[in-house]
Amino acid sequence: MLKYYEVYIDKNLVLKYLGYKDKIPPKGISDEVGQCVDESYEFINPIICFDQFQFRLDGGILLPDGSIIEDGHIIESLRRANYIVMAVLTLGNKIDVKISDLFDRNDYMEGMIYDVIGNVALEYLGKIFWQDLLEGAKKQSMGITQSLSPGSGGWKDIADQRMIFNNLDTSSIGVELTDTFMMKPMKSLSVIYGIGRDVKTSAMDHDCAECPLVDCPYRKEMIKCAD
Ligand code: SF4
Repeated sequence: MLKYYEVYIDKNLVLKYLGYKDKIPPKGISDEVGQCVDESYEFINPIICFDQFQFRLDGGILLPDGSIIEDGHIIESLRRANYIVMAVLTLGNKIDVKISDLFDRNDYMEGMIYDVIGNVALEYLGKIFWQDLLEGAKKQSMGITQSLSPGSGGWKDIADQRMIFNNLDTSSIGVELTDTFMMKPMKSLSVIYGIGRDVKTSAMDHDCAECPLVDCPYRKEMIKCAD
């Protein structure tokens, strides 16, 4: 299945990730970031390829295609789920090209700004997708785990990305996984969620104070979960 979303890029979040968390940026930097943010939308084509899968607990999380997740932290995170959702999210290739063009021209400042813009946009895309999944889960009286990505957080083995790519047709969104487990385009993310009646919706990855999804209906609920 495919989903298209629009993303919103919060200039203040871009500035924060550029190091201006507790200090006011010089006007020149602030203006340049603002201009890059405004122009960046033409380089960003957010799309998600995803599907849901049943699994069995059999020496790990055993998937219908025979692949198995053996990472203890992930087994613990997913074991109570009724099913999992695997997804690959991407901003498309244009922003990669824009970033490498800027670095090739030795425009390191703007290259860095665009790199951070890509990260902010990808984070936004992940959150808006999570909102949709949570809405669906709630209709079934279920909860959702935090997002789980091979090679990050508690999931040690980045090679487990291959399993996600084996189970999804990511050619439909133009994303490939290299032999060294890098995704192309680079502003892409592979992720798994567990969804189930006995899963408590996780507030992890949901720092609402920092989140640009101002109309998110789950803000209060997540703040309570995190308490
Ligand atoms: S407002 Fe909070 S709950 Fe909603 S998407 Fe953002 S971080 Fe998550």
